[in-house]
Formats: sequence, C-alpha cells, structure tokens
Amino acid sequence: MTTQITVGDITIHRVVEQEQPIFVAKEFFSTLAPEVLEENLSWLAPKFIDPSGKLILCIQSYVVKTQHHTILVDSCVGNHKERPTRPVWHRLTSARYEKNLAAAGVGVGDIDYVMCTHLHPDHVGWNTRLDSGRWVPTFPNAKYLFADRELEFWTQKEKDNPAGLPWITDSVLPIVQAKRVELVKSNHRLNELVELIPTPGHSIDHFSVLAGKAGQDAFFTGDMIHSPIQARYPELGMFADYDSKQAGVSRRAILERFCDTSTLMCMAHFPSPSMGRITRWGEGFGFESI
Ligand SMILES: [Zn+2]
Repeated sequence: MTTQITVGDITIHRVVEQEQPIFVAKEFFSTLAPEVLEENLSWLAPKFIDPSGKLILCIQSYVVKTQHHTILVDSCVGNHKERPTRPVWHRLTSARYEKNLAAAGVGVGDIDYVMCTHLHPDHVGWNTRLDSGRWVPTFPNAKYLFADRELEFWTQKEKDNPAGLPWITDSVLPIVQAKRVELVKSNHRLNELVELIPTPGHSIDHFSVLAGKAGQDAFFTGDMIHSPIQARYPELGMFADYDSKQAGVSRRAILERFCDTSTLMCMAHFPSPSMGRITRWGEGFGFESI
C-alpha cells in the first residue's frame, strides 16, 4: 500500500485510521438514480463499492513535510470519542492511527500545523486526546487552522444543541480553550509553498489545501469530493452536504482547474492508494490512481 510519495520538494505521507465499507452508496448519494449507479458499477466495483453496495472509504490524515513545516491535513475520528449515532466511530481504542503516524517518522510534537478542512467528526477527532479525563491537544506544538466562518457556524450549533454535536465539544472547543487555534480565511496563504483554497458547499466554509511549487504540487481535497462517481458527475451531492448545489460548483471548478495537469490529487476518503490525477471524461472527469 502506497503511503508515502515525494512531489518536488515536499513529502506526503498518508496516515490511515480506517478503511472499510461504511455507507450504502444509494443512501450516501440519495439523488443518484439507481440505473445510473448500475451503469457505473463496472468500474466502481469492487474497488470503490463492495458487493453489498457499500462505499469503501478511507479515513485518513495527510502529513505534508515542506522545507519549513510539518503539516497534518485533517485528523480523522480519534480514540475514546462518544459517537453513539455512528457505531464504526464510537469509542474507538485502536492503535492503528498512532502507529501509522509513527511509521511516517512523525511524533505528535513534530506537527507545526493541523489544518482541518472542515469541522465534521471524521476530520477533527485526533485534534484532542483524553488525559486524566480531560480533552487536551494531541499535537502540543501545533497551531490548529480553522476557517473563521466554519468555527463560528459549529460553535453556535453546539451552543444550541450541545448533546447533538459531541465532536465539537470534545475535539474542537478544547483547542479553542487551549488557545491553539489560528483562525483564518478559507483562502489563507501560509507561505509561498502552502495555501488554502476555498471549496465551500459540503460545509459552510470548507477549504482544501494546495502545497508545493507550481508544476510540482499536490492538492488535498478534504471532503470537496468523496468518491470518483462525483468526478464523473460533479453536481452529485451527498447526504451531509450543507449546500449540495454550491458543493457541486466548487467540485466542478476544482476538477476543471486540475484536469490533465500534473497536480497530485490527495483525496480524503477514496480507498487506497487515494491519490491520483484528474482526466477528462465526457462532461465530467475521471480519476487515475497513481
Ligand atoms: Zn469526511
């Protein structure tokens, strides 16, 4: 399984927490016509959709090492988190994530920035770890980059319904309280090698991350896309989108921008190897795995 790749001056490691069939494709993409799904099964199965019709998804972080910084893009589900509505993410006690982080040659103290593309439970979990009954930052030296409107949206939602958003309570607000947040605009430029690209729609102020020099770069999608069926049909929304129409506009713009270029697309949820390049496919786009 490919977990490490070098692109120009940057090194990228995948840190996988889970990879398994999770959601029924028909429910995940509720507006996808059954006959269209059927038509595409020949290339989607068995790699992206298992025989029972479930999407095979990876839950992972990307570690990006540049000459200046070590950056973690997204932080998965985390251990010991109460997620009663999502059994595969409830009270995890797996050593897999920490083992894979160590295998990437990274200690928790080495991470300079944690970038959360958005504040859904599978992208913020390892922001914190349990320490004598308290949630403390997992990465003690990191600044955590959140988009300002994203944090504002979820903070308000948690205030209105604390019991309903445990991932904000245990994995986002403790970072705010510990003063580890760097609040940014979703088009923030960190330096000449790393910038955020706004990709709103899946969440209110979702961003993706572009790293490396032009022509030798990589794009970290976050959840602007979940499956290659959304490259084939960029306007196809998924059940948890904040605004599926806007998500479709963001997705098509990004796929068009990187279509037939050398930019390595690092997908958050595509199954291993999760990385590849965008090609044209009729009115939509294809995904060519590395
Ligand atoms: Zn996600």
